[in-house]
Amino acid sequence: MSFASLGLSAPLLKAVAEQGYDTPSPIQSQAIPAVLEGRDVMAAAQTGTGKTAGFTLPILHRLSQGERPQGGSQIPVRALILTPTRELAAQVGESVATYGKHLPLKSAVVFGGVKINPQIATLRQGVDILVATPGRLLDLHQQKVVRFDKLEVLVLDEADRMLDMGFIHDIRKILAVLPKQRQNLLFSATFSNDIRNLAKGLVNDPVELSVTPRNAAAATVKQWVHPVDKSRKPALLSHLIQTHQWQQVLVFTRTKHGANRLTKYLEGQGIEAAAIHGNKSQNARTKALADFKSGNVRALIATDIAARGLDIDQLPQVVNFELPNVAEDYVHRIGRTGRAGASGQAVSLVSLDEKKELAGIERLISQRLNSEAVEGFEPTPGGGPKVDDNEGRQPRGGQRRGNGGGRGNNAGGRGNGGGRGSSSGQRSGASGNRGEGNRGDSGNRNGDAPARRRRRSQGGQRRSGGGTPNGNV
Ligand code: AMP
Repeated sequence: MSFASLGLSAPLLKAVAEQGYDTPSPIQSQAIPAVLEGRDVMAAAQTGTGKTAGFTLPILHRLSQGERPQGGSQIPVRALILTPTRELAAQVGESVATYGKHLPLKSAVVFGGVKINPQIATLRQGVDILVATPGRLLDLHQQKVVRFDKLEVLVLDEADRMLDMGFIHDIRKILAVLPKQRQNLLFSATFSNDIRNLAKGLVNDPVELSVTPRNAAAATVKQWVHPVDKSRKPALLSHLIQTHQWQQVLVFTRTKHGANRLTKYLEGQGIEAAAIHGNKSQNARTKALADFKSGNVRALIATDIAARGLDIDQLPQVVNFELPNVAEDYVHRIGRTGRAGASGQAVSLVSLDEKKELAGIERLISQRLNSEAVEGFEPTPGGGPKVDDNEGRQPRGGQRRGNGGGRGNNAGGRGNGGGRGSSSGQRSGASGNRGEGNRGDSGNRNGDAPARRRRRSQGGQRRSGGGTPNGNV
């Protein structure tokens, strides 16, 4: 099958060819015709399947074929793509710009954690396609900078993660201001009951697509476990990087502190490393990712949320320095490698106290992971010396549900706006010079919550998470 046979217009085929794509991925060959027909779609597809082009290409096609409605002085938003995290918003925005570059459509990306004014300026000019995280979008809507009365298509990308991050109220508020008559596309890695409930009120007679069996780990990723004492994990990681000469390795820790500590340790061992997590300004995160992609940084140490949606071409190696509390996160983590058909490796350093998590993961992926001790790092029967675990484990509620009950995260953003925004704001409006604390989406479970919500939630009524004030990601 070719992209041309899916019925996409010449400017889109040209853009796709420029990207070097020959054949549509399975999600693309299923989703593109359905979206072109104007159908609602509910798709189970995780990052790495090509889902972004799966919805972006047909949306661009439809918008470019239809008449741009008159919206007064401003081009009205015709397609809205909601994502849970800043990084994913930026990436999706980039895809929209890339695939749409031969079309006269305008797009922008808006998310929290960066100055709002440049976004306001871009939106005032009007855009056809807006990629946004929920909290910032609500802020902008309340300020009457953006209207949705001409909206034709809504995409919820990584809907499961949006619910995990506590965005359901924001999503419902956004849905309430959209026109009833519209096309709805819902993409989610997993389809829990919560997602199905959300879908019920959202999609209408949807085409249901699934390209990976639920919770399946990518078949192209070789996975194994190294059992090791907790205290020896940093040394083992350094040993693995050096002996296998891993040049680009994404390492997951459970906590921000853990990520910082490990980064320092590796640097002390002569391994260029950078951390990416919610206490880092958007600027620092963008820089760390760019350095990692360009090869200046060999090890990128990330927490789950910060890494969500990261798209790094040909990433060969993922390391779980600690197993995630939530088994599904393991699937997301290892999905960073082995993408778009490439092969990859995922190794987990597992200490005795992580037995339960390992069992949960193996149950979820219906697969036993090979366990191989590394010579010189064999675990001792009692699990070795005790390691201060405070930073290694956080209350479960704090991990998943956010810290609605706590104060906002105060360690964050002072960075230069993250997005890839061009100075003209034509393609992306996400830029700015001053972070706004941690109002951002991906860094913490406060997500992109508008200040008013944080204020309201000080009593902790909104979310019961009650995790640590600074969140844990
Ligand atoms: P996504 O799942 O949308 O995050 O896409 C994962 C990666 O696959 C991205 O780097 C895309 O550029 C790439 N990709 C998307 N579609 C194709 C395709 N048809 N052929 C090859 N690579 C693709």
